[in-house]
Amino acid sequence: MMSISEAMKQGSGNVKIRGWVYRERKSNKMAFIVVRDATNIIQCVLSIDEVSADEWEAAKKLLIESAVEIEGEIKEDSRAPTGYEIKVSNLTVVHFAEVFPITKDQSVEFLLDKRHLWLRSRKLTAIMKIRSTVFEAIDEFYRSKDFYEVAPPIFTPNACEGGSSLFEVKYFDDIMYLTQSWQLYAEALIFSLEKIYCNSPCFRAEKSKTSRHLAEFYMSEMEAAWMKLDEVLDYAEGVVLHIVQKVLEKNKEELKLLGRDVGKLEKIKGPFPRITYTEALKILEKDGLKVTWGKDLRTIEEDKLMEHYETPVIVTHYPKETMAFYKPRDPKDPKVALCFDMLAPEGYGEIVGGSERDTDIEELTRGLEKEGESLERYDWYLEMRKYGSVPHSGYGLGVERVVSWICGLDNIKDAIPFPRTMLRNKP
Ligand code: ATP
Ligand code: MG
Repeated sequence: MMSISEAMKQGSGNVKIRGWVYRERKSNKMAFIVVRDATNIIQCVLSIDEVSADEWEAAKKLLIESAVEIEGEIKEDSRAPTGYEIKVSNLTVVHFAEVFPITKDQSVEFLLDKRHLWLRSRKLTAIMKIRSTVFEAIDEFYRSKDFYEVAPPIFTPNACEGGSSLFEVKYFDDIMYLTQSWQLYAEALIFSLEKIYCNSPCFRAEKSKTSRHLAEFYMSEMEAAWMKLDEVLDYAEGVVLHIVQKVLEKNKEELKLLGRDVGKLEKIKGPFPRITYTEALKILEKDGLKVTWGKDLRTIEEDKLMEHYETPVIVTHYPKETMAFYKPRDPKDPKVALCFDMLAPEGYGEIVGGSERDTDIEELTRGLEKEGESLERYDWYLEMRKYGSVPHSGYGLGVERVVSWICGLDNIKDAIPFPRTMLRNKP
């Protein structure tokens, strides 16, 4: 047995493959069966004269998604969908499929209802391969820079990004939350490991219906002792560049299948422009969009700003008042925080968010009180500041946002196998 792409590489002679029927067309004497496996699709031709009567009967009954094993002679054929064809000498049907419910031109909602089956489509297969490359690139990047991978808890007693998007869960006789970000725990681990990263699911009860928000998504986070804002920006840029590079190296075929303009990705080179929030407002004002200083940038404003750029852009120094409690004031300008967002081009929005972390217990306490948090749940977090506190920084990269951008998707839901949103929790 070999994969379809291995068979194509062999290019001639006898091959043995297995997979699922992707398309089928039959006449009285011939059957054209396109078979797919994880690697590719290939056309297989059966002729009534060259297989047994049983095999011919079986071939006639084959419907889309039936599972088959095929042996035969492979040769190049420019008319076949992937340039090769197998002349079948042996056909084994492992499973006769029923009539597949997914046909052409189905609605988006129907395809989401049938997600467990739609995952077999070439489109989603291509996206999932790219998603896998994204994780590979992330691991490669951090490990090559001597980061340790760590595992944060999913159940947490704390909010991290504010109470309104927390998922509450019953935890024995107590209430806990599903993590919104591992950051607070990461901060504990930098005192032993110094440079750490993790890819973990995060949960946010996002109530707005956007094409950029999931209720369950993967955040790739890093945290590092001693690092200041400037240095952490270099890492954020570095990991994004490495991801794009790696996908271009490994997934050209998949990008082509998705209809992605690869030229746009090839233009992604560093260094990414770095502007402050205040500078961003000036650019927006020239575009006729006036934002009051102090307000967070909304989606339309981010998108407008990004019309000026073809690569991601790093926006730094947002107003302190709108930021989460752990983002420190800039000592040079106390109105702003030492933080950043990285925005993707082509309207894909924020892909990375990060900051230095406040080390001042009083500021942190004030921030938590302002957010209405109960201080007792954060005593452990504040206590870390009492023993060898050092500057440190980190960020979280939204894996599905990056996948959406790289693949050029219309909706973030296609960047994860089983999307969870306010309106969808099945299958
Ligand atoms: P946004 O303003 O777009 O909601 P955020 O400021 O809430 O993002 P952060 O808390 O900084 O995001 O989270 C870090 C990264 O995680 C973001 O840059 C984004 O890429 C990703 N992210 C955040 N929320 C979601 C979500 N609901 N679904 C998918 N990815 C998300
Ligand atoms: Mg958010």
